[in-house]
Amino acid sequence: MIVVIGSINMDLVLRVARMPLPGETLTGGAFRTIPGGKGANQAVACARLGRTPVAMVGCVGDDAFGATLRTALATDGIDVSHVSVLPGVATGVASILVDAQGQNSIVIAGGANDLLTPALVDAALPLIARASIVVLQLETPLDTVRHAIAVAHGLGKTVVLNPAPAATLPAGVLAQVDYLVPNEIEAAMLLGADTAVQPAAAALRAAGCGNVLVTLGAKGVHASLADGSHDFPACAVDAVDTTAAGDTFIGGFVAALAAGADPASAIDLGQRAAAIGVTRHGAQTSIPYLNELEPT
Ligand code: ADP
Repeated sequence: MIVVIGSINMDLVLRVARMPLPGETLTGGAFRTIPGGKGANQAVACARLGRTPVAMVGCVGDDAFGATLRTALATDGIDVSHVSVLPGVATGVASILVDAQGQNSIVIAGGANDLLTPALVDAALPLIARASIVVLQLETPLDTVRHAIAVAHGLGKTVVLNPAPAATLPAGVLAQVDYLVPNEIEAAMLLGADTAVQPAAAALRAAGCGNVLVTLGAKGVHASLADGSHDFPACAVDAVDTTAAGDTFIGGFVAALAAGADPASAIDLGQRAAAIGVTRHGAQTSIPYLNELEPT
């Protein structure tokens, strides 16, 4: 089993010709609500891109968005028994503007995600105990992420951390992470310095992570693995919307790893999935299924 611990949001997506300037009002294009949140996106990507059962640990509010999001996860076959519905709390939302170049600009109101406590992680221990891989991000409280990493690591699980959105981490956390998957900005933030990608990955590995995979958008992935450093080019596609590119990559990578693939093959599957994802709009609406990937 793969257990994903993290955020669940409803994305409120507006397409615009260009980003508004401060104080400016633009007329946008079509408005859509699309299931999102890094945790939920990664859980959906794991479920669609592999055959290993997936369970999600997270929180929604007792509102219409929460009900829709819980149902969306379950529709993808994800175990939602530990997706708590918190009374009197708003479900997390992300207000997203996507411009004509496919670049996005996002503001998040965490809502119920901010109330994912270490106690709720402990309540999910029976699930975590059955997992081979536990996947986390930083859209839920850091204390909870730290606790969950310690629990999963203590149980001998493979821990995958996507340190997004960019933040610094307390000392000791990286040593409990088997696969750290930052993008370039997040890698620099973790180091507290504007370091080039290759030395950044090496430095993060030296800080104790088993393996570091820095995603580079259209430039692919730079990996610092146990057997050395490798560059994996991205698949060439015409991107229309990069929302959830990293989440799709991570889900594909984790699903392949759970099925027994080596890291290089898992990176390949993740990149092929993310490349399809960026040719489509939205977060969970863009994540492909395993049978859509071209055979290698
Ligand atoms: P994030 O969405 O977390 O910022 P990236 O932008 O680094 O992550 O993208 C994650 C992965 O998605 C990349 O490593 C790559 O495999 C794929 N990807 C992203 N943008 C493109 C693109 N324009 N063309 C092809 N693949 C892409």
